[in-house]
Amino acid sequence: MFRSDTTAEGEFRTKVRTWLEANLPFGLRGRTVRPLPAELMPWYHTLSRKGWIAPHWPKQYGGMSATLNEQIIMTEELARVGAPHLPVQGLNHIGPILMEFATAAQKALHLPPILAGTVIWAQGYSEPGAGSDLASLSTRATLEGDHFVVKGQKIWTTWAHHSDWMFALVRTDPQAQPRHAGISFLLIDLHSPGIRIRPIKTIAGDDEFAEVFFDDVIVPAENLVGKLHDGWRIANALLGHERLATSNPQTAMMALERIKTMARASGIITDPAFQDRLAAASINVTALSAMFSHAVQLTNNEHSLGPEASVIKIFSTELLQTLNELLIEAAGGHASAKNPVTTNFGEVDVAASFLQSRRVTIYGGSSEIQRNVLARRVLNLPN
Ligand SMILES: Cc1cc2nc3c(=O)[nH]c(=O)nc-3n(C[C@H](O)[C@H](O)[C@H](O)COP(=O)(O)OP(=O)(O)OC[C@H]3O[C@@H](n4cnc5c(N)ncnc54)[C@H](O)[C@@H]3O)c2cc1C
Repeated sequence: MFRSDTTAEGEFRTKVRTWLEANLPFGLRGRTVRPLPAELMPWYHTLSRKGWIAPHWPKQYGGMSATLNEQIIMTEELARVGAPHLPVQGLNHIGPILMEFATAAQKALHLPPILAGTVIWAQGYSEPGAGSDLASLSTRATLEGDHFVVKGQKIWTTWAHHSDWMFALVRTDPQAQPRHAGISFLLIDLHSPGIRIRPIKTIAGDDEFAEVFFDDVIVPAENLVGKLHDGWRIANALLGHERLATSNPQTAMMALERIKTMARASGIITDPAFQDRLAAASINVTALSAMFSHAVQLTNNEHSLGPEASVIKIFSTELLQTLNELLIEAAGGHASAKNPVTTNFGEVDVAASFLQSRRVTIYGGSSEIQRNVLARRVLNLPN
């Protein structure tokens, strides 16, 4: 977007664009709300069969080992065709973590089903009493011989009710000081006896997340990733991957297209003041694209991102909210319509898009928490 393709990259882009145009079902294009698995997963499987589901994974694990520019081209082309958001907990979160921290047996068991899309993962970090202050989590895992017994509750777990496995942070040493020294990283089969999952509806009307209750759930000891009580280090590495993945400019690019469509339909596109704001927004989307490619490059070289992940998380999520405010302006009187607005230039889901953008500055660590991270780790300000 902010650079020109080389000849080989141009050929790759054409190949990707042509294939996506021919293969992405029309019903899945430009969706604001993520489709349910029955509708979405066949598309995941199609991408997987094509070998394009994990551009960022190394070839040795079945990925594409795509270059940075190829990864960005894929992102841009997926945005261009309006591809829906796939479940990313496996591909972007636990997948890279397993590659970095898991045993050979854990990798062999869990990585292939993520690629194939036969297993969906959920992230079990947050609890009713532990969100921003994650180290205060209280879901307890007691080691009894060859297994853990897990008791407690997770909340806001994206797609838990559609998932097969959860990677969870659990307290294995309640006495440990500091508190994070008593946390471990466990892989939990969500079909195990003693697990109850209750979906939660969001303000946008979708039930994206759920509460998960554990009542003396037996988890084999070999499902521990890394060492006992060493989960915090892994959790933080994963948060870096998560912040980067949620900052993918695909969403912002699609939001920009939505604004343009709506502005053409309402006529505000000819208003010079609106044009100024639209130009500023476009520049910021380009800046995000540049930041994202820089961050991906750092990740490719060093495994996990540091405070850069916080910078890009703040910029991308707050930009998405600004874009959605512009969408409301472009929609004028149509802004409050509950259903998508039909225009001569296409259908635009204004209200759902706006409402959904409210959540982005919360998940993966809120904007306030990211600013605290930067204040401490980059600016060395006191606590
Ligand atoms: C759509 C969505 C999907 C999610 N998916 C998942 C998931 O799959 N798995 C998972 O584990 N979690 C998930 N979460 C939960 C998310 O990680 C938490 O909501 C987030 O970490 C904030 O925690 P909290 O909700 O407990 O809010 P709190 O921590 O109670 O924070 C409330 C407010 O206080 C502010 N605040 C808190 N502490 C400080 C501080 N020290 N300094 C300044 N301000 C502060 C926060 O910024 C926020 O504005 C999801 C959340 C959303 C919205």
